[in-house]
Amino acid sequence: MECTNHKPEETIMAHFSDAVQWRRDLHKHPQPAWLEFYATGFVAKKLAEWGYEVKLGQDIIDERKLLLLPSAGKLQTEYERALQDGIKEEYIAPAKGGFTGVIGILKGSQPGPTVGFRFDIDSNEVTEGASDSHRPAKEGFASQNPGYAHMCGHDAHIAMGLLLALHFGENRDKLKGTVKFIFQPNEENLSGASAMVEKGLVDDLDYLFGGHVGISGNEAGKISIDVHSILALSRFEITYTGRSTHAGVSPHEGKNALLGACAAITNLYAIARHGGGASRINVGTLEAGSTWNAIPDRAYFRMETRGANNTINGYMVQKSLEVLQGAAKMYDLDLEIKPAANAISGRSSPEMIALGMKVAEKLPSVKQVIPEVAFNGSEDVTVMMERVQSRGGKVLYVLFGSPIFGGHHSSTFDVDETVIRNGAEFLASMQAEVTSDTVTERL
Ligand SMILES: [Zn+2]
Ligand SMILES: [Zn+2]
Repeated sequence: MECTNHKPEETIMAHFSDAVQWRRDLHKHPQPAWLEFYATGFVAKKLAEWGYEVKLGQDIIDERKLLLLPSAGKLQTEYERALQDGIKEEYIAPAKGGFTGVIGILKGSQPGPTVGFRFDIDSNEVTEGASDSHRPAKEGFASQNPGYAHMCGHDAHIAMGLLLALHFGENRDKLKGTVKFIFQPNEENLSGASAMVEKGLVDDLDYLFGGHVGISGNEAGKISIDVHSILALSRFEITYTGRSTHAGVSPHEGKNALLGACAAITNLYAIARHGGGASRINVGTLEAGSTWNAIPDRAYFRMETRGANNTINGYMVQKSLEVLQGAAKMYDLDLEIKPAANAISGRSSPEMIALGMKVAEKLPSVKQVIPEVAFNGSEDVTVMMERVQSRGGKVLYVLFGSPIFGGHHSSTFDVDETVIRNGAEFLASMQAEVTSDTVTERL
């Protein structure tokens, strides 16, 4: 497979300092899953100005997949906060109620394939560090929203996506095929991708490209091409309901939901491990009961399973359901199991891994190409990847090197902003490559 030579993209270089300002603006205004009104309005306005067809709201988010939707009060507060912070209502009115995210479509002047780019836009529910050693605090662009902060780098993802979108917008006369930008909400709770996939938004893609900054904490300029060991994951909210009675007078008449939950949790961790690969199980919270002398009639916990592949995670889910139902039976309790998130395992298409290697090696901004890296976490981009691959499309998900200062999701996470330019350059080159006549014929 031959590769055309790529010069640094002039438009990307020219607008890099704008992209840094966008990233810092977004960093100041973080909002987490289903509440990303500021980012939605920010992105939609720019894409519209650059000539993109913009899709919003219920056209791009399936209501049935709005899992763990925040309360109506919280949705309203964050919506109003975005307006107060300068977002125009016309760009977020369709997102009211949690339908956040943006799709931007630009058709080139020449025929060619449809190439999708996916960027996640949600923040974390973390309070940002305030010390002078943390650059956003020192340089005045730290989060203005207490309890929320971009501590996974999705602010840099949005800026990278916008920089790339502007590049295509300014070079529309040379653009082959169609580019489709997917600014996805709610990656952190792993249901934004499903909500968009269910709307058929990736069904027309011949190619899908995505990536993440940092993760392995490499220096800027490094790029990891074949990201494997993305774990399949399922999350559930579990509620046991029994009967409350006086613990001294009539304990025999009670049905103890707390005991049922404890029996379930102990045995969830005792599930025999699958011989086919890694598996995980975790119960991260438990809430039950109210006082000393009453039999607890309600117990609630959050649990998740993971597996090295979809089969192993499916096994963990199946065994978990048996344990949960068994405990309900033992203690005569009602059981409610509510799905909260779902991500599958996935891997990039071999042809795109090979092409990605060649493109990266020729880019001046790339200092080192790391052929493969184990992810060992979960990412719901896999849901989009699987849909595109199942319809004959090809996908690539890479890691863009950046030092990450604090760890991901810590209060002092930060990135080297050159990763925004490096990522946009790489993705622009991939698009040029898959739309160039010579290579497309061979893929
Ligand atoms: Zn994250
Ligand atoms: Zn992330």
